[in-house]
Amino acid sequence: MMLELAWRQSLIRLLLYYGATLGIGLLLGEPWWALGIATALLAARAYWRLYRVLRFLDWRKQLRTVDGKGLWAALETLIHRRQTENHTRSRRLVRLLRAYRQAATAMPDGALVIQRRDGQLVWFNKTARHLLGLRYPQSLATPLLDSFPGQPRVRDWLAAGQTDDPLTDLASPADPLVRISLRLIPYSPTQWLVVVRDVTKLMRLEQMRRDFVANVSHELRTPLTVVHGYLDMIEPEEHPDLAVMVEEMRRQSQRMTQLVEDLLTLSRLEAQEHLPEEPLSMASLLVTLRREAEALSQGRHTIRVEDTAGTDLTGSAKELHSAFSNLVSNAVRYTPTGGEITIRFERTADGGARLAVRDSGYGIPAQHLPRITERFYRVSTSRSRESGGTGLGLSIVKHVLNLHQGWLEIESEVGKGSTFACVFGPHRVRARDGTGA
Ligand code: ADP
Repeated sequence: MMLELAWRQSLIRLLLYYGATLGIGLLLGEPWWALGIATALLAARAYWRLYRVLRFLDWRKQLRTVDGKGLWAALETLIHRRQTENHTRSRRLVRLLRAYRQAATAMPDGALVIQRRDGQLVWFNKTARHLLGLRYPQSLATPLLDSFPGQPRVRDWLAAGQTDDPLTDLASPADPLVRISLRLIPYSPTQWLVVVRDVTKLMRLEQMRRDFVANVSHELRTPLTVVHGYLDMIEPEEHPDLAVMVEEMRRQSQRMTQLVEDLLTLSRLEAQEHLPEEPLSMASLLVTLRREAEALSQGRHTIRVEDTAGTDLTGSAKELHSAFSNLVSNAVRYTPTGGEITIRFERTADGGARLAVRDSGYGIPAQHLPRITERFYRVSTSRSRESGGTGLGLSIVKHVLNLHQGWLEIESEVGKGSTFACVFGPHRVRARDGTGA
């Protein structure tokens, strides 16, 4: 619209200009000279305006005013508007960028951007500098792994691109007393964002909690043994009036002893990073598990053992036995009389192995499954107590499996039964008696 008007105005002004020039030229008797001078003046003005426009197009110069009307003025107005818009946009962008950078710098957590390809540092904030002992700008373009010499955990974690699990409880390269955790966040197709957090206090608290539970459990052991010993010395026949009470006291002190033992087992497992790597004969372990199940069941259930794997495992024989026993004991305890329990050892598709304990018992409602391995978590407290449970069995199983890089798979349907399976990777599978895995 503006251009249309400018074009028309310009044409009219041009016609008027040449009309007037021709009039004056005729009056003076030199129309050609007059037209020539007018055209030269016009060309000079056009040259000047063109020079101005070109100068404005040069990004360093800011167009401040627009002169006159017509086509040249329209061109200048358009340029002016574009320039102002661009200027405002870039100012806003710079402000935004500065705010982001300030926010990243002020963050209490360390933040680093690294290349996915080679782990080279692209950017890091002040906290990351302190926590990892980096130097600016010398550390830029060096691999993050250089900050963790001799720490294969960090190398493996980075190589695996573990975005789900943070790497916790690492010693800070700047100060070994500071414990840090690293979290990997997908940032762009070519870069990772690494968040570094100081978890010293958290780790100290966690250690205090562990020590406290371990110490309390340990301290409870001796008085419990004494109580237990005295209770055992009371002959119910000699004190028939106390018989019921003594029996209940015995049951409760046994429960407490079991609780203390389970708590101590958990503390011991938590404190360990590795377990012994021993050969574990599955054929004989399956026989033991069957015997344990039969002893617990007292003929109330049908017990089956299926061994289709034909391989053994490697790991801690004692801890794996305790984990499998826990599952078998749960299956017996949470299956009513007449039910079926199947212990099955089989290979998995990826070359690993799996020990599954299936029962036809009460089953577990789906909403409880995500929390079932938490300490003291029970679907039904009364049923668990009645069956002599401590609420720690599945926590122990989970810890043992973690220490073997394995995991627990649970399937359950209320009223139909449950399957608890311990799954192990191929590296845990071992040829049975040299027959080849
Ligand atoms: P508990 O000592 O109480 O058995 P666990 O940690 O072994 O503790 O199990 C936690 C809870 O999971 C149990 O209280 C029970 O409610 C449920 N549970 C475990 N195994 C089974 C199973 N085979 N069938 C049904 N419920 C089970």
